[in-house]
Amino acid sequence: MADPKRVLLAKPRGYCAGVDRAVETVEQALELYGAPVYVRKEIVHNRHVVETLSSKGAVFVEENAEVPTGSVVVFSAHGVAPEVHDQAAERGLKAIDATCPLVTKVHQEARRFARDDYDILLIGHDGHEEVIGTSGEAPDHIQLVDGPDSVDKVTVRDPEKVVWLSQTTLSVDETLETVDRLKQRLPMLQSPPSDDICYATQNRQQVIKDIAADCDVVIVVGSRNSSNSVRLVEVAVQHGARAGHLVDFAHEIDDAWLEGASTVGVSSGASVPDNLVADVLAYLAERGFGEVEEVEPVVEKLTFALPRELVRDLKAAELAKAEAK
Ligand code: SF4
Repeated sequence: MADPKRVLLAKPRGYCAGVDRAVETVEQALELYGAPVYVRKEIVHNRHVVETLSSKGAVFVEENAEVPTGSVVVFSAHGVAPEVHDQAAERGLKAIDATCPLVTKVHQEARRFARDDYDILLIGHDGHEEVIGTSGEAPDHIQLVDGPDSVDKVTVRDPEKVVWLSQTTLSVDETLETVDRLKQRLPMLQSPPSDDICYATQNRQQVIKDIAADCDVVIVVGSRNSSNSVRLVEVAVQHGARAGHLVDFAHEIDDAWLEGASTVGVSSGASVPDNLVADVLAYLAERGFGEVEEVEPVVEKLTFALPRELVRDLKAAELAKAEAK
């Protein structure tokens, strides 16, 4: 008799508090100010989210220079360098900052250590928007360390005054390896005051670690430019899954991946709405993987309030409406 086919469905998966807030920010801004609302960079790294918001009137741009004077611009969840705020003010834009509060926390750490004249080693991926934004807080003090193999290139002014910080969406294990290598070179290296890799990244990786060894294949829903989604596939394979694949949509699944498989793991990155996971489950069910067991080692409850500048305008609009009655 053939092995029973099943799906191990990871939870937590999908939207984190920072993504939820960023998407809601654009939706509420569209409702309040009307289209178009400009969004600098992808609000979150997910194709479906960007396409859906575009269809509602959001216009995605690369730089403030593309936004007409006086328009509303939303900054993405990944954060921006201070100069981006300055440019927006110079152009007379109404800026709403949807930077995730956990990224803002890393920016604050960078400013504080720079003020105290530390050399800051920022562990992260070269070119990622979050890294560009954080580096912009203290360009003269920050140098990027892009994984364990970059450690040998690091040079510091005073080995007793060095701290490491990190991008929020890295692999926990690889970051620890990078820090170990850094500490071999710089024994006095200080750690950030609290974890920079955010709770959502850590939780999504943890549940993948828990299920990977039981899975013949792990399918992660997420976009290629989503750092935390890509990391989930890597973690799955490192922790025992025979194979791991990243897909934006269910139709990208190759049936060959399922050949001979009895257990398929499913998860999704922090910028992925759950309807895309539902599509994957439906696709798998059609191929015999109808039994779904959800594995939830950690329960997430965190939520973030909307950006202050948006909340203020929403309240003013409410008040005006009430007075007009
Ligand atoms: S992945 Fe983490 S840092 Fe990024 S938006 Fe979500 S909660 Fe914030």
